[in-house]
Amino acid sequence: MTTYFAKKIFLEEGWAENVHISINKGSIAKLSIEKQKTPSIDDELDIVIPGIINSHSHSFQRALSGFTERGSNRSNDTFWTWREKMYQLVDKLNTSSIYTIAKQAYFEMLMRGYTTVVEFHYLHRDNQNSRINNEIFHALMEAANESGISLVYTPILYQKGGFKDKELTKEQKKFYSTIREFLEHYSYAKSNLMDPHSIAIGVHSLRAVGEEALREIVKFQESEQVPFHIHIAEQQQEVDEFKSIHGERPVEWLLNNYDVNENWCLVHATHINENELKELAQTKSVVCLCPTTEANLGDGIFQLKDYVSRGGFFTIGSDSNISIDPFEELRWLEYSQRLIHQKRNIASEESIGTGQYLFEKILTGGALSSGQRSNGQIKEGSPANLLVLSDENASLAGHTNETLFDAIVFSNHSELIHKVMINGEWVKFLSQENEEIKKHKESYSALLGRILN
Ligand SMILES: [Zn+2]
Repeated sequence: MTTYFAKKIFLEEGWAENVHISINKGSIAKLSIEKQKTPSIDDELDIVIPGIINSHSHSFQRALSGFTERGSNRSNDTFWTWREKMYQLVDKLNTSSIYTIAKQAYFEMLMRGYTTVVEFHYLHRDNQNSRINNEIFHALMEAANESGISLVYTPILYQKGGFKDKELTKEQKKFYSTIREFLEHYSYAKSNLMDPHSIAIGVHSLRAVGEEALREIVKFQESEQVPFHIHIAEQQQEVDEFKSIHGERPVEWLLNNYDVNENWCLVHATHINENELKELAQTKSVVCLCPTTEANLGDGIFQLKDYVSRGGFFTIGSDSNISIDPFEELRWLEYSQRLIHQKRNIASEESIGTGQYLFEKILTGGALSSGQRSNGQIKEGSPANLLVLSDENASLAGHTNETLFDAIVFSNHSELIHKVMINGEWVKFLSQENEEIKKHKESYSALLGRILN
């Protein structure tokens, strides 16, 4: 048992001061407010907040960051032209490079406050003719182990190149598996996952799987009781194509044909109409918003204000990993709304600041998306996933409990996170100056030099 003394800590009921945190076997055993710290404490911490769940990541795409910002056809550079560049990268990747890129991305996630990552993984083969490769799963788990982050490994079924059974392209063949291969892979991963990692499942999108396959995976997911993830309505073009075939919009069709419930995580849901929004908010499923990626790819803007006013759950993800910073995701989420509505403080309820409101929402939403039983808050019995901030940080100066989260979210700078604890253990690698980080960055740079230039 270790015990820490937090000068300030964010709990379910709000900020508390002078709190002893006792940790046993990776979980929070006891929280008690004391007048003063007892002499036996192991360490004193300034400001403690819950660790953040990254609900949607394709870690391999980290390697593309900054390499796709010069369109060959600038007037018509879209998500679909970006996707071609992403496929060119896929063509060059193998198990070893997937490991190197994932480890770099996971280091960066930890440095910025993500303590868990849901890896939406559909790159299953080393080459287009091989079978689904379990070694890629091991590479991702090794990258998570070596960085320290908790992994929610989420194998994803990908079978078609587009609607109407469009053939897979040469690169997309690296994503393909039969349903049988896919479910065998899921079972293999499930039985080989080490603590504290866990598993979820999903399909890439309605354009990448047929109706029969979708039904089978959802049925399987229901028997497993794990979260189910799917990209949905990210691009207007796919919404239009889907509607021309099915006569319904993608989210509308899902809601009419499936029991979309609290185990479902709908990634993006950017292009939905008022009815879809209203019904979706009632399902208790969670929408995963990835504002920096959605902005970078020119996807569109989610109707956050209407959705939260109807009680809808949401979480965030770094998705393409163009940016790895949960607080930047939250800023983009709120700022895009301000730009549309030409008003301020759009998401918040009046009683608390927008920063705190957004942060609390993603704790609940993140827990739903990753299958955590707790609501993401620091409380007795929950995993000891903690972020420690320093009260010497200039951007937090002068802030009291009323506005502290607004400063954390809206005026944070790169040195915000001082220490990170995952399942009761301090993460060792939190600085670019750390030898392990520096060494890994050299391998990562050499890899990018080889495959991208
Ligand atoms: Zn995605």
